Amino acid sequence: MEYAKRQLKREKVFRDSVHNYVYVKYQVILDLINTTEFQRLRRIHQLGTTSLVFHTAEHTRFGHSLGVYEITRRITESFQKNFPSRHPGDGLWDNSEELVALCAALLHDIGHGAYSHTFEHIFGTDHEAITRQIITSPDTEINAVLRRVSPEFPEKVASVISKTYPNKQVVEMISSQLDADRMDYLLRDAYNTGVKYGTFDLSRILEVMRPYKNGICFEMSGMHAVEDYVVSRFQMYQQVYFHPVSRAMEVGLNRLLLRSKEIFSDNPNAGAQTPYLLLPFFKQDFNLDDYLQLDDGVLNTYFIHWKRYPDKILSDLATRFIDRKPLKSVRFDETTKPLIPKLNKLIEQAGFNPRYYTATDNSYDLPYDAYTPGKNKKEIELMQPDGTLVALSTVSPLVAAIADKTAGDNRYFFPKVFLKPSSKDNVDLFQSQYDAFKKHILNDKLIN
Ligand code: ZN
Repeated sequence: MEYAKRQLKREKVFRDSVHNYVYVKYQVILDLINTTEFQRLRRIHQLGTTSLVFHTAEHTRFGHSLGVYEITRRITESFQKNFPSRHPGDGLWDNSEELVALCAALLHDIGHGAYSHTFEHIFGTDHEAITRQIITSPDTEINAVLRRVSPEFPEKVASVISKTYPNKQVVEMISSQLDADRMDYLLRDAYNTGVKYGTFDLSRILEVMRPYKNGICFEMSGMHAVEDYVVSRFQMYQQVYFHPVSRAMEVGLNRLLLRSKEIFSDNPNAGAQTPYLLLPFFKQDFNLDDYLQLDDGVLNTYFIHWKRYPDKILSDLATRFIDRKPLKSVRFDETTKPLIPKLNKLIEQAGFNPRYYTATDNSYDLPYDAYTPGKNKKEIELMQPDGTLVALSTVSPLVAAIADKTAGDNRYFFPKVFLKPSSKDNVDLFQSQYDAFKKHILNDKLIN
């Protein structure tokens, strides 16, 4: 039988904390899961430094990828049952698109790496470009599996993920304001962090989701389930994704990788503490195989080695990261921003190099996006009983109230000792700097 249609003798199931079961019936899907590139996702945490705040959030990109596949499988199953296309161009679901949708769902995050976003900042890697490369490069196991379906199949799957695939229903299933990717990560992140918001009625949403000519919309009767999803998402950004302490740990990680790059770029033979697997990235000369060697364990192992490295800044930053000693932070705005150079000066006079021990960070440009209708993004659309479409924010006062109110703030990060010197520290050394610093941040000049 043709490989694309080959089904397993017995459907395979993966037990899953969010979806109960993930069902696999196609040989292609099982073969993709069993590739070396996909198995690597087991070794990469979904939420990076967030697990240093929510300690049970240890779930991985592997589980999330299976979850996105499972939601997509349920969507295609429902579309085929309720909205099967009868003739081309009727705006209904063409089930010959099923396999490309399932493969794209499964592989949409395949290019993510360890501590993805921080790593990208320092080393200039691009997980979307790498996703594409893993799917289309003839050297990967993933590509070999996809090519068995047809020679052009890898390119088709990659184009769904880069949103250029002609069938918008397939694209929006995996990437839109309300897609399988977001629904899975919200539910999975809420479950694993242990927070009691962030949940919504997935079954109901799948029930009211439907295809139409230009993509996917939702029946009007499901408006409240969709509203609930939007509100959950807003709360997760506020409470989990933008948590100031996990951002502080991310800043610390950024400075640690920055320092390591400065040290080992010029000194690639530093003995046992040399991060051999990172050297190609320090030199900005890496290939796909170098990238696929890395995972959370590799990076954490180097960080542990660096705790004993002779460079004081590197060893201190590594210790702060491994032993979870976050920088502290305060909010600032346009009126208090001019104070920051003064604070940096005080910190420098007290013996900390501001390059490694301070940062300004705004959470608006974190790679999570809140619900912002109209900004180059198609809004969630509802189909009224007469078949016409309306944008969610125009009919839901609840959604209108939070639309455009992007979660986030500007923060200034600095060493904890400036908030409250402990008796261990040599207070005399920087007492005057400390007093001046405290004056600025504690009399509400910076905290606003
Ligand atoms: Zn994802």
